[in-house]
Amino acid sequence: MRKQIIVGNWKMFKTNSQAIEFIKSVDSKVKADENIIAGIAVPSIMLSDVQKVAKNIVISAQNCYFEQEGAFTGEISVPMLQDLGIKYAVIGHSERRDIFGETDEMINNKAKALLAASITPILCCGESLKTYEDGTTIDWVKSQITKGFEGISADDAKKVVIAYEPIWAIGTGKVATPEIAQNVCKEIRDIIKNIYNQNVADEILIQYGGSVKPENIKDILDQTDIDGALVGGASLIEDSYLGLVNYKG
Ligand code: PEP
Repeated sequence: MRKQIIVGNWKMFKTNSQAIEFIKSVDSKVKADENIIAGIAVPSIMLSDVQKVAKNIVISAQNCYFEQEGAFTGEISVPMLQDLGIKYAVIGHSERRDIFGETDEMINNKAKALLAASITPILCCGESLKTYEDGTTIDWVKSQITKGFEGISADDAKKVVIAYEPIWAIGTGKVATPEIAQNVCKEIRDIIKNIYNQNVADEILIQYGGSVKPENIKDILDQTDIDGALVGGASLIEDSYLGLVNYKG
């Protein structure tokens, strides 16, 4: 049986003090067990302080660069994350791809650098509204997954978390229906099976992301091929975050 992984993505919200206050307030109320991982991806400036106060909540980075060190002003490296004990990093979020011009090749390099450091990449994929309306979602996602996993061994591929996030559902209040989300996540599992094998496809965790809230998380996570959620807006409010990660009651 696969675990579930529910991760908040705070994007560029909250100050360091607000983040510490939030984590201190909710951490002991999170009913994380060995079957559910509850996480929050915080802005990089907060990683160090927040990591020190989180016990039940797993702290994730929102991004990283793939080079070990060098003249890359403004970037953070994988060894920097490793030094803080960070175990997860979101890569290839659609905002990174669309606003900051990240390519599949860069995201693939980031995945490899993270895996080499035993940090779990949460690799995002997902289509625009136009691609969705054109009916070419699966081709689009297949290309992102194939390029994102290029050169990654089967053993490492199992450790990656894939986040399927249709761009038209991010921050818009439009949720893909559980059926739409399930269909694409099943296709993604098939793509992984074709690249690797049944075993990798059975083990890899696939999240859905896009306007997930406490009110709809159960219907989404009840789907066979959806193993968790990546949540933006609804993860910023304490009660709402607890409603997500403790959705089983
Ligand atoms: C996200 O930031 O990855 C996301 C899914 O945002 P929201 O939940 O606000 O749609």
